[in-house]
Amino acid sequence: MDIILLGPPGAGKGTQAQRLVERHGMRQLSTGDMLRAAVKAGSPVGLQAKAVMERGELVSDEIVSALIGEELDALATGQGAIFDGYPRTAAQAKSLDAILAARGRTLAQVIELEVDEDALVARICGRYTCANCGKGYHDTFEQPKVPGTCDKCGSHEFKRRPDDNEDTVRTRMGEYRAKTAPILPIYEARGIVARVDGMADIDNVTAAIEGIIKR
Ligand code: ADP
Ligand code: AMP
Repeated sequence: MDIILLGPPGAGKGTQAQRLVERHGMRQLSTGDMLRAAVKAGSPVGLQAKAVMERGELVSDEIVSALIGEELDALATGQGAIFDGYPRTAAQAKSLDAILAARGRTLAQVIELEVDEDALVARICGRYTCANCGKGYHDTFEQPKVPGTCDKCGSHEFKRRPDDNEDTVRTRMGEYRAKTAPILPIYEARGIVARVDGMADIDNVTAAIEGIIKR
């Protein structure tokens, strides 16, 4: 089963994708993570993407769609994909259709996480991840059980994203409103959109998503 998690920056897509991976053995395909890895590696894609990401603007459709195609090819047979942060434009949505069709895959569900914009700055500015395994945390809303120690891998090193600051967040939200939210009607017309209250507690959001994918 392939699903898209859709929602503005900080809506909880990565948090919920990590849970789906653990519970169902699905694969999280986050174009943001792929681009950050490219920036870190200093690859040609990374060099092109770095400044764009720092500004909070969108990287070119061609680059991200190529990354998604490569990652899908690396999936195990029968493994479901969770698209996290992709597609973000109408052109990417069109590419995804072609990418899936070429591989005999179908999109089962688009799950939209509905959130109040006012809450997003606080969510994003408090976000951090384990530097070793990538598990996501929040200064207030999702702290490690033992302070300073990752629940998942025991590491004591954590990191924050350079684009998780208030200025960039506003640009990222603007990009979402202008370019990403308008792709929802494409999927609504296919009858595959389900909405979840992304303002609920993390566990309750997970429960709502589980209810959708089991039906
Ligand atoms: P996205 O991937 O959509 O940008 P994240 O999953 O990284 O968002 O979530 C952003 C931050 O908000 C993280 O620090 C995460 O721990 C926290 N968070 C996620 N979901 C919730 C929620 N339902 N309530 C409160 N905080 C949340
Ligand atoms: P994210 O990790 O999803 O918050 O993405 C971080 C940044 O990476 C975004 O602000 C964009 O600059 C870039 N990015 C990630 N995914 C995409 C995408 N599908 N299309 C264009 N740019 C993207």
